[in-house]
Amino acid sequence: MSIEIVKGDLTRQGDVEAIVNAANRSLLGGGGVDGAIHRAAGPELLAECRTLNGCATGEAKLTGAYRLPCRYVIHTVGPIWQGGGHGEAELLAKCYQSCIRLASEHGIPSVAFPSISTGAYRYPLEQAAAIAVGAVKDAMAQCAPELKVRFVLFDDRTYDAYRRALDSCRKD
Ligand code: ADP
Repeated sequence: MSIEIVKGDLTRQGDVEAIVNAANRSLLGGGGVDGAIHRAAGPELLAECRTLNGCATGEAKLTGAYRLPCRYVIHTVGPIWQGGGHGEAELLAKCYQSCIRLASEHGIPSVAFPSISTGAYRYPLEQAAAIAVGAVKDAMAQCAPELKVRFVLFDDRTYDAYRRALDSCRKD
């Protein structure tokens, strides 16, 4: 199974077919990685997003990537952290599953993910990293064993958390 992690900028991944946007339910742009993706893709991305009628938390929708160096953007909406008792863990896992299912339905061979929900949505990082790695592994085993997955983490703290999550997953 191919899962790698790198530190870097998701909008500069030229050697993957799709990148995942940690969007909000309107799909009409926001801050963080969403803002960076829309800035790099250009206004055509927002125009296509306007036709999609938003996206529910945990679901995923596919668009073109316009001026980004990849071919597609998969938009998913992570849960806002509300203390952990509002189904956040299931919804976060569902984001990764929905993206991988969509990639596999469209024959997309490689996908790069950001750390969904751990920025403005304030999901605790260690928990989010463990859920992300576990959900990706499970979804790949179920429906996309050939898929190449990369986590692109923006800062050292996030990179280290995903490194630990991946290492402890590999020991299982
Ligand atoms: P959310 O609203 O789902 O929490 P954010 O975009 O606020 O999404 O944050 C998610 C993660 O994406 C954070 O770790 C943030 O540092 C990171 N991030 C922001 N910009 C980029 C980028 N250009 N490439 C990769 N990760 C990014």
